[in-house]
Amino acid sequence: MLDILIKNGSYPVYDENVLVKGNIGIEFGKIAYIGDEEPEAAKVIDAAGRVVSPGFIDIHMHEENFSEGKEYCIANMMLKQGVTLAVGGNCGVMNQTVREFRDTIDELGGAPINYMMLSGYNNYWVKEGLGHFDKSTPEQRKAIHEKIKEDLEAGACGISFGIEYDPGMTTEEIIEAAGVSDDEHLLVAAHYRADGERSLEAIAEMIEVQKNINKKFQISHLSSCSAMGTMEKSLDMINRYMEEDPRLNYDTYPYNAFSTNIGSTVFDPGCLEGWKKDYCDLLLTDDPYKNQFATKETFDDCRANHPEMLVVAFVMNEDEIAAAISNPNGMVASDGIIAHGNGHPRAAGTFTRVLGKYVREDKVVDLVTALRKITLEPAKRLEIENRKGDIHVGADADITIFDPETIIDGPSFQDISLPNKGIDYVIVNGEIALKDNEFIDDRAGEFIAYQDK
Ligand SMILES: [Zn+2]
Repeated sequence: MLDILIKNGSYPVYDENVLVKGNIGIEFGKIAYIGDEEPEAAKVIDAAGRVVSPGFIDIHMHEENFSEGKEYCIANMMLKQGVTLAVGGNCGVMNQTVREFRDTIDELGGAPINYMMLSGYNNYWVKEGLGHFDKSTPEQRKAIHEKIKEDLEAGACGISFGIEYDPGMTTEEIIEAAGVSDDEHLLVAAHYRADGERSLEAIAEMIEVQKNINKKFQISHLSSCSAMGTMEKSLDMINRYMEEDPRLNYDTYPYNAFSTNIGSTVFDPGCLEGWKKDYCDLLLTDDPYKNQFATKETFDDCRANHPEMLVVAFVMNEDEIAAAISNPNGMVASDGIIAHGNGHPRAAGTFTRVLGKYVREDKVVDLVTALRKITLEPAKRLEIENRKGDIHVGADADITIFDPETIIDGPSFQDISLPNKGIDYVIVNGEIALKDNEFIDDRAGEFIAYQDK
């Protein structure tokens, strides 16, 4: 007998870019049946009028900072928007070593979602005592490489870099670090060197890295690099290169504002001029200026006295956000990051937003293509498409059931806790994890080590 039968729903068949009606059965955490029959099941879910999608995969997010306390925050937000697997450790800024992260998940008896991790280069750069604009010595780089190797042994699926955060980092240094392992199946991801007017040279640098490494390379959150006037040219460069070398790709998020710490180099003098924006386009997210748009005075105060505060910068153009999402290449990811419970709503509403706003309302991309960009494409990137990201018999039962007529993001820049709409069920490893926005089982997820994938 099946554990769960989901009947009367439609699921995506990516080869033909269509939704197909069919019943889906789950047993022992796997998809065990697809067809028109109604095999006996311990539990039956009627999904009439609903899409039964592979669970959404967020290939770019920022994992829990367990040093703030051993409880989940962003993983809960992920689950509530239909995500069943997320990749942390992006932009070079992992919050703890991969071993520490895994151990904490074990200690907590599982996780709300499945997790994979990258090893963050900048994390170890800082630990070597290097300043943002310093040049590393061969000894320092060797020490960083040892740490990355430890992370890879502990189950990381690749290496990430935040070039803009520590611009002293050279192109050669990135290529060298990507070579700490000769495993060509690892993923290398980078947050670019500069945005806006300098975005094209930043993309050229990342293509140069791709040419010189034997691994896949992911350009991180393209919209916050190029949606200030250079998206068309950026996509041109990427698409043209990908015709010859599909190991390159990018992720992007569906918001016209980015978010990072106000003390970071992103907000160094000249940034506003570069974006052609003003202080009033920056939203401060924490005390003493929570939910206030900045002035020169509050901006300077935060830079000096609250450098860790996340700020939301409304500096991107909507049509360029849409172009990055609808481009045939690329995948959608959240870049979700949370500090002290605060942050950009992309951490909580990216996936409901892309399916509500960009698919149904603005029609910039069709439903099955959008689903492919948040399920199968990231799964292929992680080389787990035999078990995740697609509905087929034998796949892990990570499933998100949603109403395509009502799905939409709720979390806003003022209140990230507002609920999403239209997600009926999220199933993680065969267990019903979420039903109608309520947690049923928030420990069904696990850490997926690269070696076990
Ligand atoms: Zn980043």
